[in-house]
Amino acid sequence: MTTDANLKSADADSAWQDDVRAGVRHVRDLASLPLSPAERAAAQEAAVRHKVRAPKTYLDLIDWNDPADPIRAQIIPSPDELVETEGELDDPIADHAFSPVPRLTHRHADRVLLFPTYQCAVYCRFCFRKESLTSIGRGYTREALEDAFAYIEAHPEIREVILTGGDPLSLPDKALAEIRARIEAIAHVRLLRIHTRVPVVLPSRITPGLVGALQGRLMVTIVTHFNHAREITSDTELACRTMRQAGFVLLNQSVLLKGVNDTVEVLEELCRELMYRLGVKPYYLHHGDLARGMAHRRTSIAEGQALAGALRARLSGICNPVYVLDLPEGGGKVPLGPCYLEAQEGDNWRIRGLDGEMRVYRDVVGE
Ligand SMILES: *Cc1c(COP(=O)(O)O)cnc(C)c1O
Ligand code: SF4
Repeated sequence: MTTDANLKSADADSAWQDDVRAGVRHVRDLASLPLSPAERAAAQEAAVRHKVRAPKTYLDLIDWNDPADPIRAQIIPSPDELVETEGELDDPIADHAFSPVPRLTHRHADRVLLFPTYQCAVYCRFCFRKESLTSIGRGYTREALEDAFAYIEAHPEIREVILTGGDPLSLPDKALAEIRARIEAIAHVRLLRIHTRVPVVLPSRITPGLVGALQGRLMVTIVTHFNHAREITSDTELACRTMRQAGFVLLNQSVLLKGVNDTVEVLEELCRELMYRLGVKPYYLHHGDLARGMAHRRTSIAEGQALAGALRARLSGICNPVYVLDLPEGGGKVPLGPCYLEAQEGDNWRIRGLDGEMRVYRDVVGE
């Protein structure tokens, strides 16, 4: 035991590399999974639409006896993905329309999205950026980001730089340190935010070296992406503790996915375990967007509102995420409710309580 632990800490880097190597990296690796011949053929066919990738430890969380396993549903291609439904979009949240220079999206004055890479540690079947991710050869180089850095320098209203992608934490420590240093040198930037699934799907990658690469002048916020409490393990717990001890603020965004997390019980457990076990504050619960081939995982807004209402009544404020929809055409992320205001009569508002009972609240303000 002691020897193993020592070996691991002495050589933490190779631990995550082994995890990647032993996982699924290409469509042909699907053959190594315990799928029936029919399931394998279906998965291979579906994989033409979106790359396939998952590290070994994440695959090991799958219960292969359960065809509806929530982790399997997120990463193993399904023939349902080949079904396109009227109204689905290539770029569901209009990232491209708001991109003044390559690799940057600026839609809200005080913050920008920066795309250092279009590769990920895992390819999620429901990804809303999958059309961008399928283009090959768009990894990280310093030159590729130069125009984006110059743009941030020229816009003093930008206070937050959000690294997204792709998965920024799929980059080497050296690249991350370089990006952090470049952003940190821009005096008006206050906060560096990283949107990532690495702490969920490849927690061994959260090494002291990685954390050190991100530490500097800027406040660092890591936004993880857990969708189910089954993804919370002793490994993810360790990864989150490492990041918290480094002084990073940890938040989580989940996507509401039919058959994965669309029940009150599953969401309630997820949100509590995130906060109480990992110290990760549930931030957003995203309504499934209009990515192609995803109708089988989307819920209706009415279903989402009912779930969000039940969570609001059951969970403490710090465990409770905001249910949002990222509107097409760049309308931004808007909260979908539920709404508790029922009617206004003069100064009187009729407002529904968390117990479902109606109350009257009178607006009393000074002249
Ligand atoms: C989601 C998003 C952000 C971040 O929004 P927050 O509500 O601050 O989390 C910023 N810019 C764009 C273009 C986005 O899509
Ligand atoms: S890690 Fe994020 S960007 Fe990458 S496939 Fe999954 S949801 Fe998409």
